[in-house]
Amino acid sequence: MKKDFSPTLLDFGPLHIYLARHFGFCYGVENAIDIAFRTIEENPGKRIFLLSEMIHNPQVNADLHEHGVEFLQDTYGKQLVPFESLTKDDVVIIPAFGTTLAIEKKLNDIGIPTEKYNTTCPFVEKVWNRSEQIATKNYTVIVHGKPSHEETRATFSHAASHTPTVVVNDMKDAVVLSKYITGEKELNGFYEEFKGRYSESFDAEKHLQRIGVVNQTTMLASDTQAIADFLKHVMIKKYSLTENNIEERFADTRDTLCYATNDNQTAVYGLLETVADLAIVVGGYNSSNTSHLVELCEEKLPTYFISSEENIISSNEIEHYDIHKKLQLNSYDYLPAKRPIKILLTSGASCPDALVEGVIDRLVSFFYADKQVDEMIKEFV
Ligand code: SF4
Repeated sequence: MKKDFSPTLLDFGPLHIYLARHFGFCYGVENAIDIAFRTIEENPGKRIFLLSEMIHNPQVNADLHEHGVEFLQDTYGKQLVPFESLTKDDVVIIPAFGTTLAIEKKLNDIGIPTEKYNTTCPFVEKVWNRSEQIATKNYTVIVHGKPSHEETRATFSHAASHTPTVVVNDMKDAVVLSKYITGEKELNGFYEEFKGRYSESFDAEKHLQRIGVVNQTTMLASDTQAIADFLKHVMIKKYSLTENNIEERFADTRDTLCYATNDNQTAVYGLLETVADLAIVVGGYNSSNTSHLVELCEEKLPTYFISSEENIISSNEIEHYDIHKKLQLNSYDYLPAKRPIKILLTSGASCPDALVEGVIDRLVSFFYADKQVDEMIKEFV
C-alpha cells in the first residue's frame, strides 16, 4: 500500500504503539550490507577496509567490525588508518553514500580497484547524474546538504568535476548566498563565508548568474523545496524574469531526495495526525535522515531519539540524543500515568527493523499487556 501513509496501531491494551507506515531500512542500505558481507565471503585471508562507516548505524558497523572489517576513516573524514599503509592486495569497500573522486584516485593509484566492492546507492548516483545534466547546460550547482556529510562531500566532488559548485547547509546559508547574487554583499566576502564549500577557481561574480539546486538525498523535503523556491525567486527578481523564461537563469530541477527519505518523511506526517503522548525515533545519532524525522516529530510532541532499546533504561528513565545540543541526555518520567499511553514510533533508513522490534518489546515489558509482541506479529503475518 505504497500510497497509504496512515500508521499501524499495535494495541497492547494499556499501551498503544502507532508504527509509521514506512520506516527503517531502505534499498540502498540493504544493498550495501549485502555487498559488504559478500565481500567478506569472497576474500578470505585478505585485509578488508571500509572507507568510512558503512551507513550511519552503530550496530551495523559493529557487526561488520566483528567480521574483521576495519574503517579507514571516521564519519567526519578523519583518517583512522593511513592510506599509505594500504597495498594493492587489500580490499576497500566504498560505502552507500559514495566517495570523492580524489579518494577514488588515491585508491586506484595504490592499485586497489574501486568498482567491484562499491556500494554507492543508485539514488546517490542519480544526484551526481542530475548535477552533470545541469553542468552540461552551464549552470552552477548549488548542493543543499550537510557540508561535512560523506554524501555531500562525494556529491560536491562529482559535481565540481563538471561545473562550479557550492554547498549550502540550510536556508540561512541560502539567504547569505542570495546577497552575493543580488550584490547586497561585497563579492570578496563570499570566499570567507563559504570557505571549504566552493569548487576550485569559483568566481562569485560569474558563477552565481545561472544556478541549479540538487540536494543530499536525506534532507528534509520541505527545507530543500523552500531553498529552491527562495533562490528561484531571487533570480526572477534580479534578472526581471517570469516563470516562462526562468530557465535562462535557474535550472528546472525537482528535489533529489531518495524514495526512502520521501516515504519515511511522508509517513511521519501521517503518523503525526494521531494525537499521542510522545514519539520515539530509532536510529544512529549521526544519521541525517533520522534526525530529520526527529525534527518533524518534535514540532508536535515530546520526542525521544534513541539508538536502540538499551537507551530505554526503565519505565521512568530514558537516554536520548538531543540533535540541537548534540549530546545524549537522560529524561525522567517520560511515560505519563494515563492509560492507554499512546506512543508514535518510527526509525531511520539506516536502522535495522530488529531494533524497532527490540524497542517495542522493551516498552511492552513495562505493562501488563493484553497481548505479547509475538501474538501481535502473528496478526500481521
Ligand atoms: S537513504 Fe536513500 S540514498 Fe541513502 S542509501 Fe537509502 S535509498 Fe540510498
